[in-house]
Amino acid sequence: MSELAFDLECPTIGVVGRGKRFPVRRVWCIGSNYRKPDRDYTIREAPYFFSKQPDMVLGAGGCMPHPGSGELRFEVELVVAIGSSGAHIPEREAESLIYGYATGMDMTRRDLLVAAEKTGKPWEIGKSFDGSAPVGEITPSMRLAPAAAIQLWQNGTLRQNSTIDRLIWTVPEIICRLSALVALAPGDLIFTGTPSGHGPCQAGDRLEARIDGLAAVRLTIG
Ligand code: MN
Repeated sequence: MSELAFDLECPTIGVVGRGKRFPVRRVWCIGSNYRKPDRDYTIREAPYFFSKQPDMVLGAGGCMPHPGSGELRFEVELVVAIGSSGAHIPEREAESLIYGYATGMDMTRRDLLVAAEKTGKPWEIGKSFDGSAPVGEITPSMRLAPAAAIQLWQNGTLRQNSTIDRLIWTVPEIICRLSALVALAPGDLIFTGTPSGHGPCQAGDRLEARIDGLAAVRLTIG
């Protein structure tokens, strides 16, 4: 095999208690996935997926530069780390693909997203940009407390406060449906959606995201 023209660094995330790092292969996200009060979810809209690039992952305690103009928003999300390969995974087998869980933020440039949406163009750049995927250390585990709290503080004020049992599409359902569209493999991360309260942030803001049982993510907007 020919030598590589240059070295390429693989983005990684720390693993709690293992002294190892989790290499990131792909980053998938699901949109609009938390139940709102007074809504009927007997018939659920099909989930939709989008992606971020692996090197957009930002480690816990990092600093994310504000893009400078426009509206940057925070969204706390439960992140599933995939540890085994699979395609077309039945729901009952989905948990066997899980390596662990982490707390993450799906940072969004809402101005770019809305402008694209208005003209019917792809809104990828509103979701996929440098530093747009802060993720805390991964806790290796196949399961979480079913109603674990998911919270985000902005400069010490609680902005998002929900529980993960309010997911519209559960983690096994997400793995089942996403794996029917693309093969999943070790190193994949799946952001599972954000509860209400997501909002704008400014340069200098301190964000802290927490999910019961998992490592927190602290982030400063530069
Ligand atoms: Mn999101």
